[in-house]
Amino acid sequence: MFAVHLMAFYFSKLKEDQIKKVDRFLYHMRLSDDTLLDIMRRFRAEMEKGLAKDTNPTAAVKMLPTFVRAIPDGSENGEFLSLDLGGSKFRVLKVQVAEEGKRHVQMESQFYPTPNEIIRGNGTELFEYVADCLADFMKTKDLKHKKLPLGLTFSFPCRQTKLEEDMDVDILALVNDTVGTMMTCAYDDPYCEVGVIIGTGTNACYMEDMSNIDLVEGDEGRMCINTEWGAFGDDGALEDIRTEFDRELDLGSLNPGKQLFEKMISGLYLGELVRLILLKMAKAGLLFGGEKSSALHTKGKIETRHVAAMEKYKEGLANTREILVDLGLEPSEADCIAVQHVCTIVSFRSANLCAAALAAILTRLRENKKVERLRTTVGMDGTLYKIHPQYPKRLHKVVRKLVPSCDVRFLLSESGSTKGAAMVTAVASRVQAQRKQIDRVLALFQLTREQLVDVQAKMRAELEYGLKKKSHGLATVRMLPTYVCGLPDGTEKGKFLALDLGGTNFRVLLVKIRSGRRSVRMYNKIFAIPLEIMQGTGEELFDHIVQCIADFLDYMGLKGASLPLGFTFSFPCRQMSIDKGTLIGWTKGFKATDCEGEDVVDMLREAIKRRNEFDLDIVAVVNDTVGTMMTCGYEDPNCEIGLIAGTGSNMCYMEDMRNIEMVEGGEGKMCINTEWGGFGDNGCIDDIWTRYDTEVDEGSLNPGKQRYEKMTSGMYLGEIVRQILIDLTKQGLLFRGQISERLRTRGIFETKFLSQIESDRLALLQVRRILQQLGLDSTCEDSIVVKEVCGAVSRRAAQLCGAGLAAIVEKRREDQGLEHLRITVGVDGTLYKLHPHFSRILQETVKELAPRCDVTFMLSEDGSGKGAALITAVAKRLQQAQKEN
Ligand code: ADP
Ligand code: MG
Repeated sequence: MFAVHLMAFYFSKLKEDQIKKVDRFLYHMRLSDDTLLDIMRRFRAEMEKGLAKDTNPTAAVKMLPTFVRAIPDGSENGEFLSLDLGGSKFRVLKVQVAEEGKRHVQMESQFYPTPNEIIRGNGTELFEYVADCLADFMKTKDLKHKKLPLGLTFSFPCRQTKLEEDMDVDILALVNDTVGTMMTCAYDDPYCEVGVIIGTGTNACYMEDMSNIDLVEGDEGRMCINTEWGAFGDDGALEDIRTEFDRELDLGSLNPGKQLFEKMISGLYLGELVRLILLKMAKAGLLFGGEKSSALHTKGKIETRHVAAMEKYKEGLANTREILVDLGLEPSEADCIAVQHVCTIVSFRSANLCAAALAAILTRLRENKKVERLRTTVGMDGTLYKIHPQYPKRLHKVVRKLVPSCDVRFLLSESGSTKGAAMVTAVASRVQAQRKQIDRVLALFQLTREQLVDVQAKMRAELEYGLKKKSHGLATVRMLPTYVCGLPDGTEKGKFLALDLGGTNFRVLLVKIRSGRRSVRMYNKIFAIPLEIMQGTGEELFDHIVQCIADFLDYMGLKGASLPLGFTFSFPCRQMSIDKGTLIGWTKGFKATDCEGEDVVDMLREAIKRRNEFDLDIVAVVNDTVGTMMTCGYEDPNCEIGLIAGTGSNMCYMEDMRNIEMVEGGEGKMCINTEWGGFGDNGCIDDIWTRYDTEVDEGSLNPGKQRYEKMTSGMYLGEIVRQILIDLTKQGLLFRGQISERLRTRGIFETKFLSQIESDRLALLQVRRILQQLGLDSTCEDSIVVKEVCGAVSRRAAQLCGAGLAAIVEKRREDQGLEHLRITVGVDGTLYKLHPHFSRILQETVKELAPRCDVTFMLSEDGSGKGAALITAVAKRLQQAQKEN
């Protein structure tokens, strides 16, 4: 017993001494936690340097864009070819991805030798050889007749300009092995967004936000970055941690001064590092009694597989002895222990360095995503990682220690990079096919210049048609005379009431106009119009309106006053005078019964009578476009057009009396409310009308009517988007093919969401959040598509509006026989005001289609309210003048 204890004691003392000795000798190779954190910070800085345009040329870590934008989503399908042109062998594979809905990959492969003279020869020879092998493979696998998409794994730094490089076969992807690893793992685990190789060499890739990648245009989504981290330190950034052994190894390598980080980490170098250390220790008399063998002097005699064998649990010591003996040495027990510990220090340092760089990547991912904790998976490959008994454990532990805020899973890539190339190809091929389908849909909304010119011409024709006596009654663009004949001249004054019934709300206003100073003060109150009243009976609607007026008068302390009143009523009305307007038909969200064909002023008067509480002097009924024009005209006498892009879409303008055949008199001008929303109701723009417009139209309150309005205004744009999203989902191009109940719900996609989603300042993640709030569970790629759809729909709307406006300004220019026309358009409406691009695109279109008109756009502040009061004031002034005559 005693002897056994003594032996054990002796052994552990021996071990302790040896370990202490080696630890002292390799002090510089043992990296503290603080040093690792420091390296992690340095690598983060390197990544930023590589990503930024200005610093990339001098950056050691090149951060190469791979043009791989998506990880597998499981819907990949089909047969793919894959070539792996990596280290020593060259492999061709046929990969069959996913049959019958299950995630499933089948592979058949064949190795081909890569003769040295081919590898060292020129590129053309290499590719000819590759093509020959490929032809052979396709022949033996009976694939000659098929044209399969091909992925190519290339494990050398490679600057890609686009994913598809052209050879004779259909090459879809050129893939770095790290990317292949990430993609392979991502097929099984969708959280995988990093790939790391620790084999002959070392490298890593990860998914970076496009907005951070200066070298590639576009800000949407993510792209895989091949870091080429092996070159970390090539600019001197790691000099303080490099040891004399690292320098010696580098000097003896094929590429001195290059890949300095890799030379401290990867399989090609670990054995050699150990050899150099042992040699130095032997020389110093610290090992083998100072004896050295010629093998120990020979470069490359210790390989990484030896290092792994020596560190093996249990057999490690015996292996060490065997290996040392094979090197012609005569190791003592103490020597074996010391050599084993040298191996541990060298391979542990390798794992530590890898962990520090990987921790930097993970931190970056977490910060990109703006989350407290990151859940992610790292796809791993490489022989060192796979065969070294302790390496994975050590690496995982250190990473978790360095980034406690990340829950990291490490996933071993099964058949490595080659399968990955097939995966990249499969994804590229899926994305390409989907892209084509999406583009086909979006193309329906992309109008050519010719189409816009055609819309302009047709609008022009409809405007003329509506003005003519014989065609006026049939016109779809109704061209309604408003009996507003003059703009304010500044002499108007007094207190007026104004009512504004437009899209969804109803407002009552008190407007005080002071003459001379063109100053207006307003007080107003907004009342909601409940849906059941919008779509109830006319009496109920007008009683509700009068109730609101009563509330307001009460609120303002004006109960007894009989003020002149202007009524902004933003629906098509046929007017015979300024205070009479017969509703032609409801538009937008209204459908109250017994109103169409009735005079809305009479209905209002009767409702006031029914209430029998107060009296009002209704002077004018006004369309909101006219109110808008008037408001702007109060400040800019050049303002002769009013435009609304809100819930609905409409336009009015000052027309020469002589052109208005339905109204007597040829002197002066009168404002015409075009009601252009009805443009197209006769089918004249069916060529640009899409099946999605049909869906929206059929689900509306007024099917077949207001077609132009339905393509251009706030009430409908969101619905068009929703219809497209439903269709794309049905085609399996969005939301994983699942149409949620939410998406089926009419009206969920409001136009205000288009504004939010299309905002330039919005990151994709925020788009995703908006969609999630709508109950639409979207991926990053979904979000990109949704944003594109919104853009296409709002762009078409703005262009169509612009084409309509171009028609009117050109008409005015020609009518007045002018070479150039200067004119101001007063604009109102939330779509115009709040959408990030609508107003710009509209203006650009007008400029393009009416180059001889100099059009100024003036936003009206509260056009409908103020305008109604101004029109009332003008009408009052004219009435007064008539009486006095
Ligand atoms: P109306 O035309 O009813 O008198 P507005 O001009 O305020 O009133 O337009 C309201 C309409 O504008 C809403 O029905 C909606 O379609 C649209 N809208 C609301 N918010 C936004 C937004 N942020 N961006 C674009 N459109 C919007
Ligand atoms: Mg309005």
